Amino acid sequence: MSESKPILAIVIPCFNEELCLNTTIQKLLEVLHVLSDKGKISEKSYLYLVDDGSSDNTWNIISDFHQKNPLVKGAKFIRNFGNQKALIAGYESVRALGCDCAISIDADLQQDEWSIEKFVDKFIEGADIVSGIRNSRDTDTLFKKTSAVLFYKLMYVLGAKIPMNHSDFRLVSKKALDIMELYPEKYLFLRGFFNEVGLKTAYVNFDVKPRMAGESKFNFVKLMGLALNGITSFSVVPLRIVSVLGFIMAFVSFLIGAETVFEKIFFHNTPNGWATTILLLCFFGGIQICCLGVIGEYVGQVYREVKARPRYIKDTELK
Ligand code: UDP
Ligand code: MG
Repeated sequence: MSESKPILAIVIPCFNEELCLNTTIQKLLEVLHVLSDKGKISEKSYLYLVDDGSSDNTWNIISDFHQKNPLVKGAKFIRNFGNQKALIAGYESVRALGCDCAISIDADLQQDEWSIEKFVDKFIEGADIVSGIRNSRDTDTLFKKTSAVLFYKLMYVLGAKIPMNHSDFRLVSKKALDIMELYPEKYLFLRGFFNEVGLKTAYVNFDVKPRMAGESKFNFVKLMGLALNGITSFSVVPLRIVSVLGFIMAFVSFLIGAETVFEKIFFHNTPNGWATTILLLCFFGGIQICCLGVIGEYVGQVYREVKARPRYIKDTELK
C-alpha cells in the first residue's frame, strides 16, 4: 500500500441516471467521509463515475459535482457500450489514477452503500477480492429471478463455479486490477474472471433495495447477451457436448442403417417405416441445428475477439 490508510476508489457505471445521480453522489461522498473519519481509508479516496453514453443530464451532473469537489471524478463514453464495459473502464481508470482498492456499485444504489465498510474491513484483513452476495432477490422480476438461478446452475454444471446470487458489487485490490490488465479479452466476463483468478477472496452479504428512481436499464436481450458471453468465455463444455452428441448420433445412424440393409437383404420388406423416417429426420435435423447454433456462438466469440476492437472509447475524462 502506498500509505498506511488505503485509497479507496468507488466505481459507478451510469446510463441515463439523472434521476438518481444527485442523491447517489451525495450519499457515497458521505460514506467516504465517514470511513475516512473512522481512519479506515485515506481522505484521498474518491468516486469515479463512468457515463456509459447517456442521452440525458447524467454527464452534466457529474461535471458539476467535479467542479465543486475534485474527489468526484469520471469519464464519458462516446456511446453506450454496456454495463460490463463501463465497469472495466472504471477499474482500468482508477488503476491508472492511483488507488489501493476499488469497489463497484450501481448508480441506483440498490446495493446498501453502508455495507462498503464491511468490504473495506475484509480488504484490510487481507482479501484481494471481496464479492457481494445478495441476501434475496425480492426486488427482481420473476423472469430475472428464474433466469438468474438457471444461469448460475448452468455455469456450475459447465465448470465455472460462480457463487449463487453473486453481483457486481465487489471490491478488488490494486493487485487484482494489475492482473486484470494481463487479460486482453475484449469481452471479459468480470464475474467469471474475478472468481477464477485465484486471489484471496472474501464474501459480504448485503440487502438489495428497490431502485431509487427511473427504470432498470437491463432488458431481455441485454441479459441474454451477458449470460451467453459468460458461458462462451468461461466454458468449452458445450462444445464438448456437441462432439459427444455428434458421436452418439453417428453411432445410432450406423445401427439404423445396418438394420435397414439387413431387413432389405433377408426379409425383402417393402418400405413401410414412413413415420419413423420423418421422426428421425426431424430429431436429427433439430439436434444438428442446435449444435450448429452452439458452435456459432463460439465462432462469434472468436470473431469478436479477433477483430480486437477497443473495449470502449472515452470521449472526455475528469481527473
Ligand atoms: N448501466 C450501464 N450501462 C448500460 C446499462 C446499465 O452503465 O448499458 C448501469 C446502470 O446505470 C446502473 C447499473 O449499470 O448503474 C445497473 O443497471 P440497472 O440498475 O438498470 O440494472 P438492474 O439493477 O435492474 O439489474
Ligand atoms: Mg439496479
